Amino acid sequence: MGAIASAMQDVRARIAGACRDAGRPQAEVSLLAVSKTFPAAAIREAWAAGQRHFGESYLQEALAKMAELADLDIEWHFIGPIQANKTRPIAEHFHWVHAVDRLRIAERLSDQRPPGLPPLRVCVQVNVSGEPSKHGVAPDEVLELAAAVAGLPGIRLRGFMAIPAPEARVDRQRAQFRVLADLLRAARARGLDLDTLSMGMSDDMEAAILEGATIIRIGTAIFGRRRTWGR
Ligand SMILES: *Cc1c(COP(=O)(O)O)cnc(C)c1O
Repeated sequence: MGAIASAMQDVRARIAGACRDAGRPQAEVSLLAVSKTFPAAAIREAWAAGQRHFGESYLQEALAKMAELADLDIEWHFIGPIQANKTRPIAEHFHWVHAVDRLRIAERLSDQRPPGLPPLRVCVQVNVSGEPSKHGVAPDEVLELAAAVAGLPGIRLRGFMAIPAPEARVDRQRAQFRVLADLLRAARARGLDLDTLSMGMSDDMEAAILEGATIIRIGTAIFGRRRTWGR
């Protein structure tokens, strides 16, 4: 078995263990393999091991890999920050967008989604740790933004996403994920039809699953360490 297939097996075992601890069915947690900075060949190897959802953060890099992997049935997730002048190719080529944090971006994605495609599935990114440098909308502004985004025709709001500040302690990791889970509950109580919590990465996936994650975004634990800092 190759290194990626074997790492995927380990990740699936971690997901299974966390689901057992959380008393949740494993089918509730979907694994998004974050392949940014890794070549198309690595994605092909993960695909051969059964992986279908892949996350990318850099548009040009993602489009090049999509072209190389056009023979595979892959669901592509854009998980990076979005500049307004890049929304069109994102709306045209991706199935999911995780990091919508303002209405203008959501409106552009909705307008630019090709009519022949199903609505683009999106998450609103929330800044759960309150760090000023972080992307994402403040928790007290999420419900208003979510209500506006949910009304746009070309996209379908599915839920919320967060990248919390790194924390070594599991109770602190859980507290940040709980902020996102509570917001999803609040939005649903207001009548929004949402089902997605995109949270948890290689170092904190167990805590995220315990707090209700439905999509965990895993890069390092599958593909290894990224060479470029921050990528
Ligand atoms: C890179 C990235 C990940 C994957 O992080 P790992 O720690 O490598 O698992 C997850 N989510 C986002 C938004 C990322 O940019």
